[in-house]
Amino acid sequence: MLKKIVVIGSSNTDMVVQLKKLPKPGETIIGGKFYTAAGGKGANQAVAAVRAGGNVTFICRIGSDMPGDNSLKGFIKDGLNVSGIIKDSEEPSGVALIFVDEKGENSIAVASGSNAKLSPDDMYKKRDIISNADILLMQLEVPLETIESAAKLAAENKVRIILNPAPAQHLSDVLLEKISIITPNETEAEILTGVLVKNEEDAERAAKILLGKGVGTVIITLGANGAIIFTNTYKELIPSFKVKAVDTTAAGDVFNGALAVALSEGKSLKDSVMFANAAAALSVTKLGAQSSAPYKEDIFGMLVNK
Ligand code: ADP
Repeated sequence: MLKKIVVIGSSNTDMVVQLKKLPKPGETIIGGKFYTAAGGKGANQAVAAVRAGGNVTFICRIGSDMPGDNSLKGFIKDGLNVSGIIKDSEEPSGVALIFVDEKGENSIAVASGSNAKLSPDDMYKKRDIISNADILLMQLEVPLETIESAAKLAAENKVRIILNPAPAQHLSDVLLEKISIITPNETEAEILTGVLVKNEEDAERAAKILLGKGVGTVIITLGANGAIIFTNTYKELIPSFKVKAVDTTAAGDVFNGALAVALSEGKSLKDSVMFANAAAALSVTKLGAQSSAPYKEDIFGMLVNK
């Protein structure tokens, strides 16, 4: 029986217009290409985990509208368990409006919509799903009080919690002491600890602060350099896989989804980070967020051909 992974977080629809240049205030630019893409950190991580071979239930709030319906269809197609998804009857689904110019420079406006309504009460209503999980994976694109409630429920039921602290914000010691594994990138590690992370020594100083607050394991992701694991008794840099990077959007999301899967299969921390590095490296070779999340066969292929 596959261990149960529960992901709690945001679901967005990215609406992208490609333009020669970004419009200035008051300016209208015509001629851009338009496309929509599924996004939101929660949804990206849930989809990455199910494609990497996990048994995944996703808890989020979507609107009763076309973007929400399309997201739901995508989740079902990918094989996610959608019994934790709540349809909001008032708020629209989360949307990101994105302009991208010829140089790849962008300008983004996010309307969180129903994501901002995911509440501690929702966590209570979904308590059976949360307390029966083996691993709970969360990020910070939904209200912090909701994350804190879910963490409390999970901790009371001895569920292992992985927190990807993105977008970064200050976290209370009460939350941190419940976290089994935290996975900041360098910027997020700095915001959480105040330590500017530029090299391995800095990473260790930042990690020690988080370990000191009761986090079980700190994994700092280092982009093309891989990720570095710290516990109170062990540290190791796990190098990334060399690939030609095309688009690093959602690299961290794919890393976290794959990490949860490997851990749910009983792999060691080191092997799990290697698996996550392989999945994330594959994702940067493709455009997009959810569209770039690789399938388990491809991840195994990457690990074998190393
Ligand atoms: P985020 O996407 O959250 O900013 P990182 O940039 O640290 O986080 O990337 C997360 C993970 O994605 C890294 O630990 C690594 O495994 C992988 N990754 C990111 N960029 C590259 C790259 N250029 N080549 C290979 N792997 C990469």
